[in-house]
Amino acid sequence: MRIVMIGSGYVGLVSGVCFADFGHTVVCVDKDAAKIDALKTGRVPIFEPGLEDLLAKNVRDGRLSFTTEMKEAVAAADAVFIAVGTPSRRGDGHADLTYVYGAAREIAEAVDGFTVVVTKSTVPVGTGDEVERIMAEANPAADVAVVSNPEFLREGAAISDFKRPDRIVVGSDDERAVEVMREIYRPLYLNAAPLFFTTRRTAELIKYAANAFLAMKITFINEIADLCEQVGADVQQVARGIGTDNRIGAKFLHAGPGYGGSCFPKDTNALVKTAQDHGSPIRLIETTVAVNETRKRAMGRKIIQASGGSVRGKTIAILGLTFKPNTDDMRDAPSLSIIQTLQDAGASIRAYDPEGMDQAKPLLADVAFCSSPYEAARGAEVVAIVTEWDQFRALDFARLKTEVAEPVLVDLRNVYPPDEVLRHGFRYTGVGR
Ligand code: NAD
Repeated sequence: MRIVMIGSGYVGLVSGVCFADFGHTVVCVDKDAAKIDALKTGRVPIFEPGLEDLLAKNVRDGRLSFTTEMKEAVAAADAVFIAVGTPSRRGDGHADLTYVYGAAREIAEAVDGFTVVVTKSTVPVGTGDEVERIMAEANPAADVAVVSNPEFLREGAAISDFKRPDRIVVGSDDERAVEVMREIYRPLYLNAAPLFFTTRRTAELIKYAANAFLAMKITFINEIADLCEQVGADVQQVARGIGTDNRIGAKFLHAGPGYGGSCFPKDTNALVKTAQDHGSPIRLIETTVAVNETRKRAMGRKIIQASGGSVRGKTIAILGLTFKPNTDDMRDAPSLSIIQTLQDAGASIRAYDPEGMDQAKPLLADVAFCSSPYEAARGAEVVAIVTEWDQFRALDFARLKTEVAEPVLVDLRNVYPPDEVLRHGFRYTGVGR
């Protein structure tokens, strides 16, 4: 199959590289010339484990190329995937569909012969209908079928998620399009990945329902964690105690500083808006959004509490800035609100993150960025683990103790057993235990 991927970000690039690795011929398009220039020289503009090698292999084998000009590639394509961003619209939380609609218009003007146009971006219910309308308006002669194929990969494990998905959702009622989609994903049958065909609107809603449910699950265990702290229970044991029930499942039951990242915050907000607009509000998710929002600053206050109730004039070390490990993505990371809360209370911040500092620098003012956790801890009155990168799981506490002003560890990811930290002469605060 000849595939064009419009948008070469976290989703577009990973999908494009993996489709090429399945044996398809893929052209990745992006408007950002710097990104395409980098990709042409083999440099991957994002941090995603394994991506650089897989990209190089498929370029070498002649199945993968990059361009800023979609016209020629789209004309030759069997399928064109839209994988552009759908951020929150300023002000009201709706998904901003400007990039999706812009891409649709450009694709319509470039298609030649029957072409399947696949929305991989996360888009509200009904967007496929609008994409179809826009394309018909831009080029009434275009022979296209608009399909929804939402993406469920996780940053940090994107390649294995893409190649071994729990399911692939395809929303379409066009037989020709369904055949093309079957052919595109055929290599995955070997991995026994179930293809799930449904209507376009259902497919669009599945993606939001999935993300909203996961965000709700995280928020649930976070509130249970707060209760654990009040009643003297241990949230990790509660999580194990409920998670082994396979009606509940063990995943997404890790108490922490609240969910962040490029998907859950914007997708929960967008679902809330869609539901309200259709007169069918989803109050569970409205509450999830509100609880999560207040939690991030509450985690800042937890750090202040661990420092005796005031951080004015004190130095706080923040270990981990990205919203989760193994990514450099800083979009909506809880660290941003936590650091702001501490700065509002008069603290100076020293921070270290293995991959996220380049993206973090433009988002954070007056933060001293350091080259290791130990440098960040220099002179600190509290060391706070905000993201559970592997290298923070085995800190050299003897060394850390020689750097800090006060041996206080706040572990917002419950990385350490409290006993181990206390044994090294640190005071310890975790979440929900
Ligand atoms: P991103 O911001 O990393 O990438 C989007 C890219 O699209 C950018 O490089 C931008 O320059 C490019 N672009 C925008 N308009 C364009 C146009 N008209 N032509 C060509 N390129 C254009 O975004 P992302 O994180 O990859 O997310 C893309 C979509 O996938 C979003 O809807 C998101 O919700 C969804 N999604 C993301 C993830 C994730 O983990 N990041 C997971 C599942 C789904």
